[in-house]
Amino acid sequence: MHKGELDSDIQYLPGVGPRRAAALKKEYAVETVGDLLRVYPFRYVDRSRITPISQLNDSASQQILAKVVKSELIGGKRLSVTVEDSSGRMELVFFKGIKYTMARLEPGKTFLFYGKPAVFNGVMNMVHPDIDYPPGADDRQASYTTGVMTGIYPSGEGLKSAGITAKAMNKLMENAIRLALPEVRETLPEYLMQEAGLVPIHFALRNIHFPQDAASLSAARRRICFEELFFLQLSLLKQKYIRSRGARGYVMNRVGDAFNRCYEALPYSLTGAQKRVIREIREDMRSGRQMNRLLQGDVGSGKTMVAVLSSLIAVGNAYQACLMAPTEVLARQHFANMEKYLAPTGVKVAVLTGSTRQAQRREILAGLADGSISIVVGTHALIEDKVVFCRLGLAIVDEQHRFGVDQRAALWSKTADGIPPHVLVMTATPIPRTLAMTLYGDLDISVIDELPPGRKPVQTLMMTESRRAALNRFLKEQIALGRQVFIVYPLIFESEKLDLKNLEEGYDRTCDDFPLPDYKVAIVHGKQTNEEKEFNMSAFAQGRADILVSTTVIEVGVDVPNASVMVIESAERFGLSQLHQLRGRVGRGSDKSYCVLVRGDKLSRESSKRLELLCSTEDGFLLAEEDMKMRGPGDMEGTQQSGLPVELRLASLVKDGPLLNEARRLAESVLERDPDLGLPENALLREELRKDRYKMKDYSKIS
Ligand code: ADP
Ligand code: MG
Repeated sequence: MHKGELDSDIQYLPGVGPRRAAALKKEYAVETVGDLLRVYPFRYVDRSRITPISQLNDSASQQILAKVVKSELIGGKRLSVTVEDSSGRMELVFFKGIKYTMARLEPGKTFLFYGKPAVFNGVMNMVHPDIDYPPGADDRQASYTTGVMTGIYPSGEGLKSAGITAKAMNKLMENAIRLALPEVRETLPEYLMQEAGLVPIHFALRNIHFPQDAASLSAARRRICFEELFFLQLSLLKQKYIRSRGARGYVMNRVGDAFNRCYEALPYSLTGAQKRVIREIREDMRSGRQMNRLLQGDVGSGKTMVAVLSSLIAVGNAYQACLMAPTEVLARQHFANMEKYLAPTGVKVAVLTGSTRQAQRREILAGLADGSISIVVGTHALIEDKVVFCRLGLAIVDEQHRFGVDQRAALWSKTADGIPPHVLVMTATPIPRTLAMTLYGDLDISVIDELPPGRKPVQTLMMTESRRAALNRFLKEQIALGRQVFIVYPLIFESEKLDLKNLEEGYDRTCDDFPLPDYKVAIVHGKQTNEEKEFNMSAFAQGRADILVSTTVIEVGVDVPNASVMVIESAERFGLSQLHQLRGRVGRGSDKSYCVLVRGDKLSRESSKRLELLCSTEDGFLLAEEDMKMRGPGDMEGTQQSGLPVELRLASLVKDGPLLNEARRLAESVLERDPDLGLPENALLREELRKDRYKMKDYSKIS
């Protein structure tokens, strides 16, 4: 088949080439010309308005339509161009691209100039305005970008250094539209477009990139957002439907001795919420259908115990269970907890991670294969091909946002008879219920909405660098009382050198401020080997170190009840949910606990709002809701890789709430009438859902 423009490699689009193609791939994951069309502007500059020179002011960027009067090179470094329209004259100033600009701006010719006017020595000027040909000046040169709203695309350093400026991006998009738009196929059937009042895809794509006017833009937006939300809903609902038709699951109708013995030996009684959730899980596990359940519970709500007891139900029915954690540290901690809780039961549990030694690994693999090991805790190592279970009946994934969808799916293939194991996904990222329904539309949801009794509130304070000495005094007091301290640095992207430098400087300074032999400081970060991490972590967990300086690797799950202070450096760089998670690391023991947010001197309004909110409440769901309002769910910690089967590029689950509901309603009615999408009028839908991006989600089929 002839490969059209739409599917051709982005590097062959005029104006791209290998270097820019690499940048586009990196920044936008754009591989083909068709992919580029689906990168949308995040805002627009209104270029439809032309301001007379005499009415310019220096408040915002504006556009003039003016004739070049003369150009003058001043001091060899500065190009001064005088332009005029019928209302007056002004100066344009250029410091770069002087030769090119001088040649282009021939006296007598008229152009559109767009830029921010400034008053200099009493004269209005514009420095480096954008230059465009006026509409209709010359058909070969006049572009879509002329005289209409211009899209501004998210841009990163990578794009800039490959020469893809805002303007270049518009130009590329123009080429993509010209060459490939005719090949874009409609994705929605006519009847749906009519029912929802949507414009066709060609109109939508053209106008999302180059809006003719505000009304066309809003019609384009609505169409594209609807499409995203609709297919999201349709794919989720379809899976749920397939599942309800019966992905068979193992029947586990006994509770078993191990469960009862563990339960009776518990050092505390379960909270009402824990009991309810365990009941829900028991119901699922004996229903004969595969469990696919999401367990949500704020940090410290006691999810581990639910995991333990669920595993014991599997064991009590002669199945195996596995618990997969996102980090080595966390896996080992879960293992330690499991061993403790399982002691009265005699159930055999093992831990398998990347650093498990060969001899031991062989032993564990053999034990899993012959069934002598009932429960295994581990990291990604668990999903390797070499791991074979005798009778895997339950797979638990902790803090699932660290796992990709495909990694979860790999667990499904661990049973021999093709029946998928029951699956319990646990997350501490609180997600508002309405959002959860969409994010995890294919899962059933349980919520632990109650903390174990006796939790002391964590006092949260905010301070700037100027109070560092006071902070150090306070930390020393705490340490003198026998407590321990976390100091966390942002290391959002582990590869970023600057972040690592901050962390290292922070560690050095901490060591200076808290010198040996009185104080011991441990450090953990993602660049360390597993042994280093393990060594430092356990030094802290076992109380041999007073302070743990780290990156967010401790964010998930680590339990050190004796730690009473969480210091978060450059707190403004963390998201709300992440800050809340970090804060959840303290306040687990009986001591009064503190969370100290060290912030920069200059903060955006939004950042300070975030930090103030955190100081004012400990309610994770409330924070999640606020976080979502402020940043949109796409940015929410975790949601990116977690639930969404389809990436939303334009639509927002929060801001487009009404459209989301409409999309869901229509998706439901389509499936009600045509569950397999077999009717001719739904052929387009069937075809769209067949695309790769909707594929991995059909868990029940992966076996
Ligand atoms: P998370 O939900 O964050 O994983 P954990 O399972 O780590 O929470 O539990 C946090 C702490 O609370 C642990 O120290 C655990 O022993 C304790 N805990 C769990 N359930 C209860 C309960 N019902 N009563 C008292 N303490 C509990
Ligand atoms: Mg946990």
